[in-house]
Amino acid sequence: MQKEVEYENLKNECLKESEEPIVFGEGRLDAKIVLIGEAPGAKEIEMRKPFVGQAGKNLDEFLEIVEISRDDIYITNVVKIRPYRINKKTGRKINRAPNKREIDKYSKYLFKELEIIKPKLIVTLGNVPLKTLLNDFDAKISNLHGQVYNISNRIIFPLYHPAAVIYNRSLRDTYLEDLNRLKKYIKEKDIIK
Ligand code: URA
Repeated sequence: MQKEVEYENLKNECLKESEEPIVFGEGRLDAKIVLIGEAPGAKEIEMRKPFVGQAGKNLDEFLEIVEISRDDIYITNVVKIRPYRINKKTGRKINRAPNKREIDKYSKYLFKELEIIKPKLIVTLGNVPLKTLLNDFDAKISNLHGQVYNISNRIIFPLYHPAAVIYNRSLRDTYLEDLNRLKKYIKEKDIIK
């Protein structure tokens, strides 16, 4: 089956199995680099695109440092719905971390996306995609960030989530160091080509 058809079928299957609106991945199906975040937030659901609004700005800053363009990559999340809870006082939705049930349900689609795209490099952003790809819920980004790993024939480069760095200024130097290592790795291995 053609990649595009396989991909559309996968997206439709995910849509059918979700009671909430979904944000699927976005980008080239022949991308050499796939970026994986945690889950969409309110803005992503509104626009039906991953990493827009503030999260998108943070990501764009990161892409600029690494000297890669959104047009060259594929961006997705582990969980395709917005995990939220209701604030009892205001009645409004507040983001929360995805739970194990959501991660298990949606990682099935993530692994199929990766099978279709077959990237040379996977960059995980934050703890959720790292734990999911390692299939190890004790794994921690603080121990594993900024290095290349070959796990089950996938090349993975774990990074802190760009948003986490905004809220924790002390991580900024480490994060910039990691981004420069990633940039060097991409250049050395000629990954974009
Ligand atoms: N937006 C996304 O699409 N993913 C994240 O992980 C954070 C914000």
